[in-house]
Amino acid sequence: MTVPRRHTHLVDVGGVVVGGGRPVVVQSMTNTDTADAAGTAAQVAQLAEAGSEIVRITVNNRAAAARVAEIRDRLRDVHGVEVPLVGDFHYNGHTLLREFPDCAEALSKYRINPGNVGRGARHDANFATMVQAAIDHRRPVRIGVNGGSLDPELLDALMDENGRLPEPLPAGDVLREAMVRSAITSAEAAEEIGLPADRIVLSCKTSRLQDMVAVYRDLADRCAYPLHLGLTEAGMGSKGIVSTTAALAILLQDGIGDTIRASLTPEPGGDRTIEVRVCRELLQSLGLRTFRPEVTACPGCGRTTSTVFQELAQTIERHLDERMRVWSAERPGAAALKVAVMGCIVNGPGESRAADIGISLPGTGEQPRAPVYVDGEKATTLEGPTLAEDFIRMVEDYVESHFPRAAEPAAAR
Ligand code: SF4
Repeated sequence: MTVPRRHTHLVDVGGVVVGGGRPVVVQSMTNTDTADAAGTAAQVAQLAEAGSEIVRITVNNRAAAARVAEIRDRLRDVHGVEVPLVGDFHYNGHTLLREFPDCAEALSKYRINPGNVGRGARHDANFATMVQAAIDHRRPVRIGVNGGSLDPELLDALMDENGRLPEPLPAGDVLREAMVRSAITSAEAAEEIGLPADRIVLSCKTSRLQDMVAVYRDLADRCAYPLHLGLTEAGMGSKGIVSTTAALAILLQDGIGDTIRASLTPEPGGDRTIEVRVCRELLQSLGLRTFRPEVTACPGCGRTTSTVFQELAQTIERHLDERMRVWSAERPGAAALKVAVMGCIVNGPGESRAADIGISLPGTGEQPRAPVYVDGEKATTLEGPTLAEDFIRMVEDYVESHFPRAAEPAAAR
């Protein structure tokens, strides 16, 4: 079953297409000091290699803006990575984009937060300067509203308006309306300045799940701009992962969302790429993208008292991850492979038959033999100390025989 995507404009972000019903794009953001060009380029490369298709970097001051072009060059020349970079601007984006045209040119998209581009007349002038930079450099923008930095003038005006109603709405409703209105009116203002509609992406992030879902549903009803989804400040560890996936899954399942980011707080010194992996796993679980072969492994229980089962499941996962780097170029169809590694006879044969290739390991008290099923039929039974290697060889053979090689590029003449 496929989930129909909401119709939106199609926005080109440095060669990566966002919206227009195209596959949902994975994004991430660095947490390095952008003025440290080498460190930032290295982290962007890590994120891109983990599967981030667009990477955002902070551009918060002159020292950062001055190094953005170098970061792009280092990515290409040192890391061999070409990934669109998005500049995250707050407060001074109008100054930095004007003073550092190399930075404006090196970035593939500018994130503008309409809540902190200045107050009153300066708000409109600063916003217009950033939009004009996007027009001049032929770049798209993301108008990124955030619940924590909402335009206070707009919020005050809506609160006053609400206070005059015979039956005022709850403050939370007004806050959500202010977020949606800030995004849409800013996008309309950008169009009036001259930025085409197909160079605008919107986001409205909050840290409260139900508010975030309600705001995005409203946005989806009221505009055709592609939407960047994210639950902001989702938090650390399992709490952050669960909150993010719950929020994003609800919207993605409704066809809402064209690009996503998981705003997870890593452990000190922790792996930043986890936010990329979470997005990819989420999209693959929902059946919206296929990045890698799927391994169905049962959770194990009292019937799997040995560690053979967990070790084999882990070995297979690792092997498929490593091999997918090669297959994605040589045999791209292999990403659709389905492998089952099951722990005993209860569900083992059934799940193994349902996969392309599956193994049902012996549970406690069963004969130490493992039937292997290929395309729903029992193909062989493995046993002994080479069981893991034998099964991996069968997986390799399966990929070779079922997923054709990508067409070789024509030889240079
Ligand atoms: S398949 Fe067997 S080992 Fe795995 S969870 Fe089910 S009963 Fe337990």
